[in-house]
Amino acid sequence: MELTVVKNATCTFCGCVCDDIELHSDGVRITKTKHACSLGESWFRNHTAERLYPDALIDGQPATLDAAIDRAADVLHRAHMPLVYGLSNVTCETQREAVALAELVAGVIDSHTSL
Ligand code: SF4
Repeated sequence: MELTVVKNATCTFCGCVCDDIELHSDGVRITKTKHACSLGESWFRNHTAERLYPDALIDGQPATLDAAIDRAADVLHRAHMPLVYGLSNVTCETQREAVALAELVAGVIDSHTSL
């Protein structure tokens, strides 16, 4: 397998968004990280190019994206002050949309860093 080195990669795990990470990959797995903390190193090294999950889950079962969106809309419509939570491992654009969603449904927002 061919070794690939990516410099100045961004880690989106905890929210600090360190952007000076160097990654070494064998094409399937990240085999080495430089400049990542222990959380970031663990996050990078446990990711693969394999697709491990379906597009969506409903009650733990694989579902179509359309069905999952309908279910989420129904849950949010019935909720009183829903919590939009998580937001690790996502892009800035996704976080922006999550904030907009929390505002739209009069909810609250929090990230996993509050743990
Ligand atoms: S998990 Fe570590 S490397 Fe990743 S963004 Fe947070 S502090 Fe940076």
